[in-house]
Amino acid sequence: MSIVVVGSIAYDSLETPSGDAPDVLGGSAAYFSVAARFFGPVSVVAVVGTDFKPEARQLLADRGIDLRGLEQRPGKTFRWHGRYHEDMNRRDTLSLALGVFENFSPTLLPDQRRCDYLFLGNIAPELQERVLAQVQNPKLVAGDTMDHWIANAGDDLKRLLPRLDIITLNDDEARMLSGEHNLVKAGRGILRMGPKTVLIKRGEYGVLQFSRDAMFAVPAYPLEEVVDPTGAGDTFAGAFMGYLARNGRMNESALRTAVVYGSVLASFVVEKFSLERLLALTWEEIDNRYRAFIELTDSHHSRWT
Ligand code: AMP
Repeated sequence: MSIVVVGSIAYDSLETPSGDAPDVLGGSAAYFSVAARFFGPVSVVAVVGTDFKPEARQLLADRGIDLRGLEQRPGKTFRWHGRYHEDMNRRDTLSLALGVFENFSPTLLPDQRRCDYLFLGNIAPELQERVLAQVQNPKLVAGDTMDHWIANAGDDLKRLLPRLDIITLNDDEARMLSGEHNLVKAGRGILRMGPKTVLIKRGEYGVLQFSRDAMFAVPAYPLEEVVDPTGAGDTFAGAFMGYLARNGRMNESALRTAVVYGSVLASFVVEKFSLERLLALTWEEIDNRYRAFIELTDSHHSRWT
């Protein structure tokens, strides 16, 4: 079943302890769609400016990502400049320029309006809401957000939350949105704001999932070297939604497997800058790391008895 994603397609300038990468392809919808495409069809709703290079569009098209909803408008492509601390769970936004996203009013194609799975990637909550309003009868709506929007568009975001099945956000954002420092309190507090499931992404510490009846935690796959954490959250979300769409069920068991696939794909994207690692990734590598991931936390494994 097809997934529709709205989000940013961006040029990022990245500074990490491993080096710098100026003007590389990024944005929530780019990472999301490349990750989700491993599992099934995905269709993008986004806007880029006249500075967007045809090679970048081709790169996504070559993956079989549906780009009919990627508009090109006069103006500049969204740009984000981020710098990571030595502790790569921490990053600062040095600058952010919305460019053509400022006046973007997405209009979904007829088949996109009929999608079953909708992901509202990190972009202004008001735009997320406008996309949601056009989708007729989705089976699952998930959304992501960021400190920038919690601080600058908190009311829009709070209006959107009851209409989401799943919200994904990182630990600092969860604290900011809920006003709670403790992450269990934060997760439960955000559940009370409306979504059925809250996924808190904790960088190298993994993911915490809260739903009304259950709590689930997975570590991040331990890596010796992280080159660029950018897009880990969106990649997680892409694989998570991709798995759910392919599987078709939305019970706790499916959600848990989806969280593991999300964590597996996220563990690859951080190995190189931008989308480089994801674009070179094979299913065999995904399968192997999925198995290694399960073994990592399996305390009853027969091999050790
Ligand atoms: P992540 O590391 O998963 O949180 O996603 C990082 C991506 O989000 C980068 O490629 C940025 O281009 C994009 N991004 C950063 N800030 C924003 C924002 N305020 N709105 C939309 N996209 C953003």
